[in-house]
Amino acid sequence: MATNRTFTMIKPDAFSAGNSGAILKMIEEAGFKIIAMKATQLTPATAGKFYEVHKERPFYADLCAYMSSGPIIAAILEKENAVEDFRKLIGATNPADAAEGTIRKIFAKSIEANAVHGSDSDENAAIEGNFYFSQIERIG
Ligand code: ATP
Ligand code: MG
Repeated sequence: MATNRTFTMIKPDAFSAGNSGAILKMIEEAGFKIIAMKATQLTPATAGKFYEVHKERPFYADLCAYMSSGPIIAAILEKENAVEDFRKLIGATNPADAAEGTIRKIFAKSIEANAVHGSDSDENAAIEGNFYFSQIERIG
């Protein structure tokens, strides 16, 4: 079921560099509406659960350590075709491959510390949004 919603995190590298405001500005200017948002910090265990799908990948342990290393911003975003359009706005996983003008091209430090997360499907957007936000914490 297409929901027109996606889920994002501003990752620890971008948050600690003070880039959250600039990234949120790009997100809003691209037409995404904020449905829920909070600043928080993952524990290694919650990061492990969020990225469980990657648990067999060689970078999993490093990724969980990195994602729990400092504060993040989590948000649910709404726009027509949200998942696909947001992946376009953030650019490729590796900033070296990301298109000019994308969030990762501008703000990411490395393939791991790549500034933002974006859901890869409507199904995962719903799962990830529910991971962070209860119904009362979101608009509609
Ligand atoms: P995200 O899910 O965070 O939006 P993505 O969908 O572009 O990113 P995934 O393949 O889902 O990429 O990987 C999840 C995250 O794991 C990446 O965003 C990055 O932080 C990290 N990662 C991916 N590949 C590597 C790698 N080869 N080395 C180190 N870290 C990696
Ligand atoms: Mg992914």
